[in-house]
Amino acid sequence: MSKESLANLMTEERRFAPPTELAAHANITAAAYEAADADRLAFWAEQARRLSWEQEPTQTLDWSNPPFATWFADGRLNVAYNCVDRHVEAGHGDRVAIHFEGEPGDSRAITYAELQREVSRAAHALTELGVEAGDRVAIYLPMIPEAVFAMLACARIGAPHSVVFGGFSAEALATRIVDADARVVITSDGGWRRGAPAALKPAVDEALTRPGTEAVRSVLVVRRTGQEVPWHEGRDVWWHELVDRQPEQHTPQAFDAEHPLFILYTSGTTGKPKGILHTTGGYLTQVAYTHHAVFDLKPESDVYWCTADVGWVTGHSYIVYGPLANGATEVLYEGTPNTPHNGRWWEIVQKYGVTLLYTAPTAIRTCMKWGDDVPAGFDLGSLRLLGSVGEPINPEAWIWYRKHIGGDRVPVVDTWWQTETGGIMISPLPGVTHAKPGSAQVPLPGISATVVDDDGNEVANGSGGYLALTEPWPSMLRTIWGDDQRYLDTYWSRFPGRYFAGDGAKKDADGDIWLLGRVDDVMLVSGHNISTTEVESALVSHPAIAEAAVVGATDPQTTQAIVAFVILRGGAAENPGLVDALRAHVAKELGPIAKPKRILPVDELPKTRSGKIMRRLLRDVAENRELGDVTTLTDSTVMDLIQAKLPTAA
Ligand code: ATP
Ligand code: MG
Repeated sequence: MSKESLANLMTEERRFAPPTELAAHANITAAAYEAADADRLAFWAEQARRLSWEQEPTQTLDWSNPPFATWFADGRLNVAYNCVDRHVEAGHGDRVAIHFEGEPGDSRAITYAELQREVSRAAHALTELGVEAGDRVAIYLPMIPEAVFAMLACARIGAPHSVVFGGFSAEALATRIVDADARVVITSDGGWRRGAPAALKPAVDEALTRPGTEAVRSVLVVRRTGQEVPWHEGRDVWWHELVDRQPEQHTPQAFDAEHPLFILYTSGTTGKPKGILHTTGGYLTQVAYTHHAVFDLKPESDVYWCTADVGWVTGHSYIVYGPLANGATEVLYEGTPNTPHNGRWWEIVQKYGVTLLYTAPTAIRTCMKWGDDVPAGFDLGSLRLLGSVGEPINPEAWIWYRKHIGGDRVPVVDTWWQTETGGIMISPLPGVTHAKPGSAQVPLPGISATVVDDDGNEVANGSGGYLALTEPWPSMLRTIWGDDQRYLDTYWSRFPGRYFAGDGAKKDADGDIWLLGRVDDVMLVSGHNISTTEVESALVSHPAIAEAAVVGATDPQTTQAIVAFVILRGGAAENPGLVDALRAHVAKELGPIAKPKRILPVDELPKTRSGKIMRRLLRDVAENRELGDVTTLTDSTVMDLIQAKLPTAA
């Protein structure tokens, strides 16, 4: 970004008060902000007491060697005990922990007592394979219960896991195995994807032919689809043969609060993924607290569903560790939202009576594209709260979500955070905050975030700049695995003493925070810094548009020119006047400076496997360049289709 701050183009007047009933019984009230403001560290020490410690910590934060933090360093605990055993001991063994829904329609309800047995057996099995505390285990599985068992089993024996999204290639898997120096890989024959079994095991076999993977001793294979699998005698072992014969009782051992819990690679939206290291006590404290606070979880009555994949941080923090630490009942769904029909998700909400739903803007916009009539065909009356994460949610997508999924009655919480932050950082509180569509609004109690300009000075309300986190937080990354220097350079050198998130942001007139996309994506048009997010949101606010991706392409007159790629909404048709109408619409919403020079209707946008738009590839297209790294792209044919469209439109 240049010296000039990010323009603040969009205004949003709509406000939604918390539902009276929810506010009256909310887990968190405004008093939490006061408590945290009065004494931030005491507030977090208090939250740490939601966990069961074998040895209670007496220390909270140690920031004597910044930016290397320790939290609760003299405490000792076992994460799996906290997520499983203690609920059984408290008499909740019969409560369903996981309602598993397979893509083909098979299902399984797993109680906390069963979860305890499964995790215990898996822990014994890993020990039999020679895994010791500190050894890394790679997990490459579909969305099946064994993914949760495996993660918790690793945590139980103190072996940091590195979960690799099941949609990644052998190459991507190999890089992560090598970087984490894993000793064991846990995988399956395959998983169900779009109505057919998709193989996983062959990718592991291929990955393990790459140099640097020699340390992998064993491959533990879950049978999910029953498809044929190549077998390496002596290395490969079936889960059902090894795990099922283990004792169902296992004594969890306590580990130091700063013992590594997992390494997870970022989505790679902006470049080469980073191996983010999270540890035990601070991480679990923050994910448990934020899950309780932001989703208002009532473990006895709520049915929670986070649609993310366990391969992403959202799956780690808000499918596995946060909800299970809180004793939640949750849904785990294996497949795609449109198998066998576009209403599959809503059918699942209806079937299990889901009350709390957490998903991503990409999914919401896809549903907008499929049409309003799809969710209308199901009873979604059980829902009482909706969450969003992963990208800025366009105000119009927020409104659609609230109206068509939430029946215009339930609160929507837009949660900003990153793999690096481990847990939610900025979000409305459903019983407190008057929500604004499109804004993540306020840092959670105990979290300090602001927006700064190029020189690191806090911007005034009504201005834009960079999002910065000004105080350490319990679930912060501890480093980039094996690369402290990259940790320092990436996050702590831009604004000394403060964490640089890499996201553009603005504060509105009320001081609420709006996320405006990646700093790398900000456009410079005739001397103005313009956010891609705001132009995209203006396009999505046109009734014909479901989704938009905007980039700045080099332009001789204006430095950069705005190029927009748009997907039409269900029912809308491409017509000759549409492009002009859209340009006029953006000019009206944001001002003439933000009017796209070119608008191209497309059928799909390039996305990472976690569903985020990869603008850098669209910029390559718009500037007629060779495409950059496409390995984290979901479907590379999307780029061919977009490129084919290009010459005809101007
Ligand atoms: P890489 O760092 O490798 O480029 P990534 O940043 O996509 O990958 P993640 O950690 O999965 O990997 O994503 C975090 C990013 O997602 C945030 O920095 C932000 O840009 C975006 N994000 C997440 N939630 C929100 C939200 N509620 N509003 C706006 N942006 C969000
Ligand atoms: Mg990132």
